[in-house]
Amino acid sequence: MALTVMRPLVTEVCDGCHTTKMAYVITQRCCNDASCVAECPVDCIRPTPEQREFANTEMLYIDPDTCIDCGACVDACPVDAIFSEDELSASLARFADINAAYFQRHPLEADLAPMAMPARPPKELGTLRVAIVGAGPAACYAAEELLKRADVEVDMFDRVPTPFGLVRAGVAPDHPGTKGVAGMFETAFKRDAFAYFLNVEVGTHISHEELLQHHHAVIYAVGASTDRHLGIPGEDLPGSSSATDFVAWYNGHPDHADSVYDLTGERAVIVGNGNVALDVARVLLLGPAELGKTDIADHALEALRKSNIREVVLLGRRGPVQAAYSSSEFLALGYLPGIDVVIDEKELELDPASQALLDDSEVEPSLTLKVALAHEYAGKPVNADNKRIVFRYLTSPTEILGSDRVTGVRIAHNRLVETPSGLIAEPTGETETIDASLVLRSIGYRGVALGELPFDDARGVIPNAAGRVLGADGEPLAGVYVSGWIKRGPRGVIGTNKTDAQETVEHLLDDFTARKLTTPTEDRAALIKLVEQRQPEHVDRNGWRAIDRIERERGKAAGRPRVKFTSVAELVAAARKH
Ligand code: NAP
Repeated sequence: MALTVMRPLVTEVCDGCHTTKMAYVITQRCCNDASCVAECPVDCIRPTPEQREFANTEMLYIDPDTCIDCGACVDACPVDAIFSEDELSASLARFADINAAYFQRHPLEADLAPMAMPARPPKELGTLRVAIVGAGPAACYAAEELLKRADVEVDMFDRVPTPFGLVRAGVAPDHPGTKGVAGMFETAFKRDAFAYFLNVEVGTHISHEELLQHHHAVIYAVGASTDRHLGIPGEDLPGSSSATDFVAWYNGHPDHADSVYDLTGERAVIVGNGNVALDVARVLLLGPAELGKTDIADHALEALRKSNIREVVLLGRRGPVQAAYSSSEFLALGYLPGIDVVIDEKELELDPASQALLDDSEVEPSLTLKVALAHEYAGKPVNADNKRIVFRYLTSPTEILGSDRVTGVRIAHNRLVETPSGLIAEPTGETETIDASLVLRSIGYRGVALGELPFDDARGVIPNAAGRVLGADGEPLAGVYVSGWIKRGPRGVIGTNKTDAQETVEHLLDDFTARKLTTPTEDRAALIKLVEQRQPEHVDRNGWRAIDRIERERGKAAGRPRVKFTSVAELVAAARKH
């Protein structure tokens, strides 16, 4: 049975003394994993994972009137997103108001919901053995959760020789703080209860059935490894590519190290305006002085050093109210050195339905800010010497132009129409052409089917009920679970995976406790023997530590956080140097 304890009540609420005391402020790189929430002694961080607002919030916020300036949240934050009000840099200063605005809309109330203390499986069931396929944030949060909740052995598999998935190969290089979450996982994974089997591909080196012979359960946390397509003429021309591939290339993913991007033209177009599109726009324009301080792959740094691109146009098919970027990332664009954000005020005119969303008394401050920032950018003078990120709204590509390579994009202008599923874009009939030599579609990641496991092709996810994988008959498959983007689709930031993983692990432990899982016939020693035979180049914890150490040493010599190895052969060779 689950134990319950009450959350600490807010015992002291500052009565207007906000001007004389400092508060902590959550800023741009909040990862939403809510590690800070449980640590706050006055319970002033919202929304909590138990609240309805948590599912869609862009970030978490600290109530400045209740914060007692103790700094407990700072220590708990895995991505260094929390600062004292008086330490905010110019680019983060507005976050003090952004935090306060959340509480004007959602006044702080003590969270009296009992905090469930999760039950541990009974001791007599012995050690639970779990295989986790994937080593990205969803996999790591699941492993961390298992390690603190049970007598457990966790074996983590990844087909590349490095852990941390999109933390290493997805997070933009100019966001080093976000990568700090890996440090939290490293600490949790020091125990012998945890083992890495990196450079081992499930389905090639070891089968699903073999995983189940060695474990009570398998959690697939494989993410969404491909991207969506536009389905328009010219999409396959040289010079047209996916933003997800471009991201993997600049982050040194071994599958993309040999890709070549033609950066000789002056303009690139990105289709879509989510946070990935913003990441790519920054990386295309930041220049070697900024990028040379990061862990960007050497091949990308070299190519971008020679790049002629001066303007990146982002095409949003809907309006500024529906833009997919988060307001904090949009705000940060305004502080990039030598780069202007350009918006035509005319494209900010709202249709009545979007205006109504904005005028609603219950509008989220993050949405109000998003639109206010767009007007601020539209009102700013443009410096002709600067590079530019141009936001276009209500525009969709209809054709990528060029005969043997991309020369431009034909776009249709849209209006928004109300449908039962929300406001969607519909062409007005007006079109225009934008010259460009590079087009990157950034319209979302997509999960891929895995061997014989069930797959929902329409959604790109493995069908599941809160983490339990469902068979064709709609019943849970014994011992098979999912977590992360392959479970819920490619939405949410790194920390979103924490609550997602907790849900999956909760159900796995319930099934173990209810004796629904088959006891494995083989142990970890047998697994290591099998993997040694099938994949002698597998990388274990010592191997990963060696890679990490050498990459950091190379980075130190170059004044960078790390210099990445980008081929499997180099990574395996480095792993052998432990
Ligand atoms: P996303 O947020 O889902 O954005 C996808 C964009 O593509 C939207 O603008 C969408 O427009 C547009 N789109 C979809 N289909 C389209 C089509 N057929 N034609 C034109 N436009 C189309 O996806 P993402 O940028 O790949 O990000 C994935 C997740 O990772 C997000 O949750 C994101 O916040 C997160 N992430 C966060 C960070 C960060 O915090 N710094 C960085 C990177 C990624 P509609 O809205 O009209 O569908």
